[in-house]
Amino acid sequence: MLEIQNLTIRYGRHLAVDNVSMHVAKGETVALLGANGAGKSSVLNAIGGRVRPASGLISLDGRDLAALPDHRIVEEGVALVPEGRGVFGPLSVEENLRLGAMPRRARTGAAEAMDEIYALFPRLAERRRQAVRTMSGGEQQMVAIGRALMSRPDYLLLDEPSLGLAPIVTEELFAALHRIRSRGLAILLIEQNVRLGLGMAERAYLMTSGRITGEDSSARIATDPRLAETFLGRTGTA
Ligand code: ATP
Repeated sequence: MLEIQNLTIRYGRHLAVDNVSMHVAKGETVALLGANGAGKSSVLNAIGGRVRPASGLISLDGRDLAALPDHRIVEEGVALVPEGRGVFGPLSVEENLRLGAMPRRARTGAAEAMDEIYALFPRLAERRRQAVRTMSGGEQQMVAIGRALMSRPDYLLLDEPSLGLAPIVTEELFAALHRIRSRGLAILLIEQNVRLGLGMAERAYLMTSGRITGEDSSARIATDPRLAETFLGRTGTA
């Protein structure tokens, strides 16, 4: 179980995340929904070791993650696909994927993992020698997700995978994410497209102005009046 307890994140004097607690069970898919600036990316970046929390606990099966550098968090089985993707543009698809297999936990079975990723994203197989910077946004997102999967994570953290993608590419990407999910990988997903996010997640959290303002099954969140309120803004920051 991935557990976040009383997480607080500040950027200088700005309180971006205020006492947030949430959890993702093994194999579970959870959506984190909220307006721009609500603090969602900050939560994901803190779990992935890219942002240092001011206070709070982040643990995986009881092991403390909050003090670890980002590469050690990957070794523990938690892989982040950040907003903006973080792929290496000058490198080819295959080189990017190989970089994902650097963690010790991924070194055996890297060839099989790559085959699985090419099966999941056939577009990448066709373009394996192409420089990633010359690819479409959707293809680059597939590379980013593929690279994270190469580390053989138990938990995949996805920050707005559909951002900037055409609807048809988004559908294709989510079809692949549904397949990934059905293999038992746990997913924590930030998604502006509420229909897609709730369609994939079993449970969802609502976040407004740095705080969790709702938590329920996706089916109940879909009809919860707080969902609309969350996106009507009142974040105080956006
Ligand atoms: P978005 O969907 O727009 O990415 P979000 O819900 O993911 O929004 P965050 O990106 O976590 O929200 O940002 C939360 C708040 O913290 C915002 O007010 C943002 O401007 C601020 N913030 C985020 N990163 C930094 C940073 N590196 N330095 C200063 N302020 C930051």
